Amino acid sequence: MPPPQPSAPAPSPMPPSACPTCAASVAAEAPAFPFCSPRCKQIDLGRWFNESYKVSRPIEQADLDEE
Ligand SMILES: [Zn+2]
Repeated sequence: MPPPQPSAPAPSPMPPSACPTCAASVAAEAPAFPFCSPRCKQIDLGRWFNESYKVSRPIEQADLDEE
């Protein structure tokens, strides 16, 4: 009877990751990694840009009084 093996996960050779934009599998060596394409990268960046607009703090009176 062999000794119990440590429960280490089998090493897997670089599992493909999913593109954050379209969820397609992306190879680690993809030029736009972790995106599947430069287009998806742009889409994601645009999304962040819009998001940062939404979450930015509301304009306060102090901002308007600045001279
Ligand atoms: Zn994609």
